[in-house]
Parts: sequence; C-alpha cells; structure tokens
Amino acid sequence: MSKMKTEVTGDVRVRYAPSPTGFLHIGNAQSALFNYLFAKHYKGTWVLRIEDTDLKRNVPHGEESQMSNLHWLGIDWDEGPDKPKVEYAPYHQKDRVDIYHKYVQKLLDAGLAYKDYTTEEELKQLKEEQVAAHIAPHYDGRWYGATEEQCAEAEKKGLKPAIRLHLREDYVYEWDDMIKGHVAFNSANIGGDFIIEKSNGMATYNFAVVIDDYLMDITHVMRGDDHIANTPKQVAVYEALDIPQPKFGHITLIYSLKTQKKLSKRDKNTLQFISQYRNNGYLSEAILNFTAFLGWSPVGEKEIFSREELIEAYDINRMSVSPAFFDQKKLDWINSEYIKKTDSDELLKRTMELVADGETDVAKAIQDITMDDKAKFMKDIISIYKTEVKTLLDFMKKFVFFGNIKNEEIDYSDFEEFDRESVKKLLAAFKDEVANNEGDLDFNQIISKVGKDTGIKGRDLFMPLNIVFTGSKSAPQITDILGLFNDKADIISVIDRAQAHLGN
Ligand code: GLU
Repeated sequence: MSKMKTEVTGDVRVRYAPSPTGFLHIGNAQSALFNYLFAKHYKGTWVLRIEDTDLKRNVPHGEESQMSNLHWLGIDWDEGPDKPKVEYAPYHQKDRVDIYHKYVQKLLDAGLAYKDYTTEEELKQLKEEQVAAHIAPHYDGRWYGATEEQCAEAEKKGLKPAIRLHLREDYVYEWDDMIKGHVAFNSANIGGDFIIEKSNGMATYNFAVVIDDYLMDITHVMRGDDHIANTPKQVAVYEALDIPQPKFGHITLIYSLKTQKKLSKRDKNTLQFISQYRNNGYLSEAILNFTAFLGWSPVGEKEIFSREELIEAYDINRMSVSPAFFDQKKLDWINSEYIKKTDSDELLKRTMELVADGETDVAKAIQDITMDDKAKFMKDIISIYKTEVKTLLDFMKKFVFFGNIKNEEIDYSDFEEFDRESVKKLLAAFKDEVANNEGDLDFNQIISKVGKDTGIKGRDLFMPLNIVFTGSKSAPQITDILGLFNDKADIISVIDRAQAHLGN
C-alpha cells in the first residue's frame, strides 16, 4: 500500500466519538488523544460526540466515565454535549434520530435504499446455509426491487422493515487512509446491502456516523483500526448521498507485549482502564505521555514529553502502521520520571486523594491506621522515596509499612550476607545508644558513635540497620528512615524483633 503524505490545510474539525458501552479504556484514550493532538497541532476544533444509538449496550455512568477520565488526563474538548454549538447540536446520537430519518428517506426516495422485511428466523437460516456452503455470510438482497404490493403484504402480516442501503455491484469502495495508505474493498466483500435504519426506527452506527460527520463539518476522521471494515460502508453512504467525504485515518490497535495478541478487556494481566491507572498511582501526565507513543513517534530519541510538547511535535505523517505494544516496564519508567519531576507538595496532594478515595487495599489500610498527622508522615515518606518509586501506590505501601511496623512482617534474609556476631554486637550497641539518649535523637551522631565504639564500619555498619528497619540491605538514607519514628519505644521494639530473630 502506497502512502501519500497528508498535508493539513484549512479549517480542521476532528471528533472523538465514544459509545458509552463501558468505561474509558486505554484504546479509547489513544483515539481521544490523537484526535486532541491533531486538533491542537493543526489549530482546529476537537468535538466530543456520544454515539449512543445502541441503547441496549449503553452502561450506566459510561458517558460520565469517558468525560471525567478525559478531564483527569488533562484533555478537554472544544465542543460537546456540555459545550454545544447551536449549528451542530445535539451531540448525543440518540437525540438526532429525526435527522437520520430525513436522510434515510432521501435514499428511499432515490431508490438507493429499500425496505427489508426479512425476519430474524429467515436471516438466521440464510446465514446457516451460507456457512454450510462455505461462503462468507452476507445479506442476499432478497427485498431489493420488491413491489409496493409485496411490501404491503408484509406490513399486513405485522412485519416492520429495516432499511438497507443498496450497494453497487462489483464496485470498489476506496480511500487514501492518512495512516494505512490506499485501502480498497470490493462491494462483494462487505457483507451485502447493509442496514442503515433498524426496524425500531433507530439509525445504525454506520449511517449515523456519516450524517453526523457531514453535518458537524468533520474534516478528518481518526479512529481505531477495528473500524476499518466499517469504512467502506460509510464510503458507500457518502457516495449514495453525494456528500463530501472527510479524510480517514485508522489508528493501530494496542497489543500486549506478553501475549503478542490484541489487548483484550478480559486480559487481567494489564491494567486497561484509565480509572485503574489513577487508582494505582499513575500520574495523568505519565499516562498521557505513554499513550501518545502507542501508535505514534516523534523525530529523535526523546521520550518524555509534556502535553504542550506533544502538541508541538505531533505529525499525522508519523503515525505507525504496525501494532503498538503495551510495555508495562516502559510505563513504569515514564511514571517514575514524572514522579521525580513533580513537586513534592503536588505528589502529597495526589497521594492523599488516593487515600481518601479508598479504592485500593493499601488506601484502606492507611485509613485504618491511627496517627496524628498522616499528611506530615506521607510527606516525609515522599521526600525519602521520591527518586525510587514507580507509582504513588509505592509511597502508600511504605506508609503502611512504617506506620504499622510493629505488625509488619520484616524480611531478614539479607542478614545471611553479614557476620552474625558482628550484627548482634552492632544492634546491642545501637539499642543502648538509643535507649540512653535523652531528648531528640541525632541518628548521625548515634551511628557514628556506635561505629567508633564497636569498630564496625561501612556496609557492615549501615546495611544491617537497613535490614532491621526496612527488610532490605539497600535502602534510602537510614537516618531519614529512622527520622520517621517519633517514638523511641517503637525503634527499640523493632530492634528487639531483629535480635530475637538472630538469637542469642
Ligand atoms: N463509537 C465508535 C466507538 O466507540 C467510534 C466510531 C468512530 O470513531 O467512527 O468505537
């Protein structure tokens, strides 16, 4: 497939058109983001339209989830149900039924669409026969050209017709895709004449989407690759109505790096809903940055891009044709980079919001801890661990560990690497110093005194203390960790446990 460079000129209007059949998924976010970047880079308008014609599949809060999670990601639409423009409203498809109906009637009047009274049972039988004959299931056009008498006969039987668009025979529906290059489908391979209005009077997606994109002056349609087989049908509608077509671009789908298969909502190994990323301590800036690289790449090696930098760098001609792989390690890396860059007070605010939301076990565990000033404790944890964590949840886990250390299981396995007698001597001396010091404890001074008194130095001095208080030989500054304890008795009890583990 050859691909022509897309030159974007004139007024740009693009849209993100979710169906509220579920919550905002990473694949939705990908479509939303590329449309947003396209609109902003080419100084156009980004429209949000809700495609809710399939009433049975709409879920409660589906629309709200789309909107609130897009807001969380920091991408806001210029027009939409909450920001209507008179000439384009309404922005819910279910409120546009009369508009679709008018266009359906035009096609009926022109003989380009027709009434189909085939019953469910007949369609089922047709499909079974075609499957048995090893031919691709398709509608066989049996009501095309039916007489008024035949229709009246069917009406008399109480049958309600669906309206189908008649496809031209052996005709090629084609377009120059901004991402995939030239795409062509023969009319014989798209499932036969298709329904544009169901028997309940509701337009189907493939019809409504065309009417809306046309009436809303959409110039470029960018959506997931899973819609590529719908596009020839939409081209057929544009041609039948003789209205101008937008440019189409089909965005590559997201694949799991682990299974090498298309990411499936059932795949429990990968977080896939934007609300899950939020609850699990990912920063919106990191998710935005990560998502922008699912199907697009800028010139050069740089990987950390702010929203403004993405807008600046975005180029429709750099969208990728090959699958985008979801790389969890890369996401974690990007998130950790954003955590390092973000102001600690802001991290504190967002982490405490997660605690208050109580959506995760660790958030609930923090809610259950009694402590005078949780925000202060969290702030200390954030400043100690800011350069080490992958997610805000890691701060919360540290909070639970240190805030509840008496009940936490501590891993002492790293003690194996050290001389047991030396560790015991060290702990005894350290405990004595802590116990005998009055007032505020200066841990720098205490540790250096213990080192001098026992002759234990370097890693043999610091690492065993790390193990005692964190369960790992490598830890941030031990003096900072010790600073988290404001009760001497707590420190002593933690040492007691380690001593009990080491035995006499
Ligand atoms: N409503 C469709 C969906 O949620 C989007 C269709 C389109 O962008 O044309 O998949």
